Amino acid sequence: MSSEKFYVLPQLPYGYGDLAPYMSEEQLRIHHTIHHQAYVNGANAILKRLEEARKGNLDIDVKAVLKELSFNIGGHVLHSMFWRNLAPPGKGGGKPGGRLADTIEKEFGSFERFRKEFTQAAVSVEGSGWAALAFCRILGRPLIMQIEKHNLNIYPAFPIIMVLDVFEHAYYIDYKNKRADFVEAFWNIVDWDEVNKRLEALLG
Ligand code: MN
Repeated sequence: MSSEKFYVLPQLPYGYGDLAPYMSEEQLRIHHTIHHQAYVNGANAILKRLEEARKGNLDIDVKAVLKELSFNIGGHVLHSMFWRNLAPPGKGGGKPGGRLADTIEKEFGSFERFRKEFTQAAVSVEGSGWAALAFCRILGRPLIMQIEKHNLNIYPAFPIIMVLDVFEHAYYIDYKNKRADFVEAFWNIVDWDEVNKRLEALLG
């Protein structure tokens, strides 16, 4: 991957129909093949444009280009994480285990309190964005953050261990405009093993 010069749409670790009834086959297929693909294409197109401008020594609107690049790369990276922290009902859902359970308990007091705060973070994102659980290595504490669009309000160097997409494109087919219903459904398909793995990699 690191030797690739351009971004590539990753395959999902499950089938398009496997997250139903919480996320329908149609919703997931469109989200992955149309929306996520658009960020991959968008980021690659800008990288190519930059290459051409450098070759021809052409002037570019650096501020606009970087803004667009950050949006598209952010979209690609966040979606790639999102697919991996979901799992079919049965494998996903329930409660976290391992050191993730301890970390959540210690920070939030209980899993229920964490779930409530994360839900509120997701539901109240202004416009399009994400709720994310990140880990601050300075303090060794997890923290919830809201990400506006794909790139605003991110803490530099705080690794993200769980994300929830609350762009309307993530749920409009299944839940119309009812974001809160989609966020509620998310708790049935979150892959705690994967989130725990990410955290444990950081804890060392
Ligand atoms: Mn999305």
